[in-house]
Amino acid sequence: MIQQLIELNQQMAVSVLAKIEEPFIKEQGIELWLKRDDLLHPVISGNKWRKLQYILQHALALNTQKIISMGGAYSNHLHALAYVGNNLGIKTLGKIRGERPKVLSPSLKDMQEWGMDLEFVSRSEYRQLRTYKQHNDLPGIQHGEYWLPEGGALDLALQGVAELVDEIELDYDVLCVPCGTATTMAGLIGAADENRRVLGFSALKGAGFLIDEVENFLKSRDSHDSDWFIHLQYHFGGFAKINPDLLSFIHQFECTHSIKLEPVYTGKMLYGIYDLIRKGYFKPGQKIIALHTGGLQGNRGFIPRAD
Ligand SMILES: *Cc1c(COP(=O)(O)O)cnc(C)c1O
Repeated sequence: MIQQLIELNQQMAVSVLAKIEEPFIKEQGIELWLKRDDLLHPVISGNKWRKLQYILQHALALNTQKIISMGGAYSNHLHALAYVGNNLGIKTLGKIRGERPKVLSPSLKDMQEWGMDLEFVSRSEYRQLRTYKQHNDLPGIQHGEYWLPEGGALDLALQGVAELVDEIELDYDVLCVPCGTATTMAGLIGAADENRRVLGFSALKGAGFLIDEVENFLKSRDSHDSDWFIHLQYHFGGFAKINPDLLSFIHQFECTHSIKLEPVYTGKMLYGIYDLIRKGYFKPGQKIIALHTGGLQGNRGFIPRAD
């Protein structure tokens, strides 16, 4: 199985830096680059592979037969996990928030096709599951089973995210990332040099708790972390909530740069970055890198598109 993991890793494409050119950005004397982690793999896009890589290695070393995790009905995390589980010959079980829908979402259908068992849990049970933070924390977990917290939020996830930082050859000042559980952000902070700044953009409303989450991750490490801050105001009403303003921004961006976004994470982050640039938040001469975390499969959830 470790061989399959190596092969999967070899399938990953190079995540290039693409320069985002806009007159108003140039006028501010700023450079904006997008790190295209969305290009890594056609299915397991973006930060989900970064986060899963070392977790899977750990799970395999423990002789894991089954990985159990949790997520919503459009979860990029469960989608990626189901795919890799199928690839590696490991069973997967997804605990999905809410009642079983009459018609499965396209994401859930994929998960099922890749052999993931779907178990629908109540919102209160789901909240309870969030409190199990380590790989063996799930009550009643059996030998050979591995518990993966929401969003793959284990310390091992940070190690894979660090590799992304090592790939960057540009001398940048600011690294921007969308936040769900902020696991990816914690990985970036741990890996970026002290003189860089990491900026998170929360995809959730009222997400002040993310600051504690990041601090908890960093507590267990003795590295010199970079400076960081989470912008909490670009949530558009809540997780996966959208409005015409956001959709028109995304449409405009996609037409101008021929790079697809999704409205849950990267769309909101880039909207926020554009807004901050316009407001003079960044200093002239600064080079900003924004991480495109992928997740385009989730688009099938709520945006009717031609493709
Ligand atoms: C899961 C996901 C995130 C959030 O990552 P966290 O590590 O949970 O903060 C961001 N962008 C995309 C596209 C995702 O699928």
